[in-house]
Amino acid sequence: MYKNIAKHVLRVSSSRAAPLPQQLVSQPRRFFPFFDFSQRGRNWTVQNKISPIDVPPIERTEYEPNYQINLKYKDLHDIKMENVVWSVRLKGADIGHIELTDLNGKGPFIYRAHHLHMHGPSEHRVAGVQHDLEMHIVHELIDGPDHETYKEQLAVVGIIFKVAEESHPFINKIKTEDLGHIETINFNEIFQTITPDEHKGFFHYKGSLTTPPCTDIVNWNIYSEVLPIKEKHLKQLQGQWHDNLHGNCNFRECQPLYGRRVVRNFQ
Ligand SMILES: [Zn+2]
Repeated sequence: MYKNIAKHVLRVSSSRAAPLPQQLVSQPRRFFPFFDFSQRGRNWTVQNKISPIDVPPIERTEYEPNYQINLKYKDLHDIKMENVVWSVRLKGADIGHIELTDLNGKGPFIYRAHHLHMHGPSEHRVAGVQHDLEMHIVHELIDGPDHETYKEQLAVVGIIFKVAEESHPFINKIKTEDLGHIETINFNEIFQTITPDEHKGFFHYKGSLTTPPCTDIVNWNIYSEVLPIKEKHLKQLQGQWHDNLHGNCNFRECQPLYGRRVVRNFQ
């Protein structure tokens, strides 16, 4: 399954396939992909121009009772964020999974969490507004009715942040100052303002990856609450990729809806 997601997400694999020549072991950054964000994705030779999107104002989205998402993340111990050139990534052996029934009522599907990475400023806009940071938890489909032929082989949970006086507790925990060692963390902590049995508050649409190859195989789930982050923490995170990208920000510009439905699971 790792191989499967690697095909879609990690264009250049890290050192998993074969041992690195010894002289390159000290330069792991060279083995992560570099995306040219200088034109916010306009210059990418990719077919799918469907993600990210500007999520319409709530009254122009549709409450869809068929759409359901349940977050089943687990406690992670002793992990560390890594710089992957164009972003930072938080990856653990067993992050947990989500259960998802899509806007057409297909499912429930089980998607296993693969990793979390970040974009700053945000990729998705909310009612026309671009915020300061967006986290993406990327999941791969592992089970569900006819899951092998189901188009959306990935599901991404997007969480948007804007600058405020205090950071959300999850941001405090990931030690932005040095991408340091994290003793324990659970991705559920991001959504701690809602009760564990009631994961309401997501917008959902069908789209693509936002980085090359931009494959159109993603069930998108954007958390409806915009969460707080201190300016200092935002700068520390953005500093991780700004230099690598020659000062560019790592977001793709919004793409047209082309008549697609954007639904929500809350009223
Ligand atoms: Zn992303």
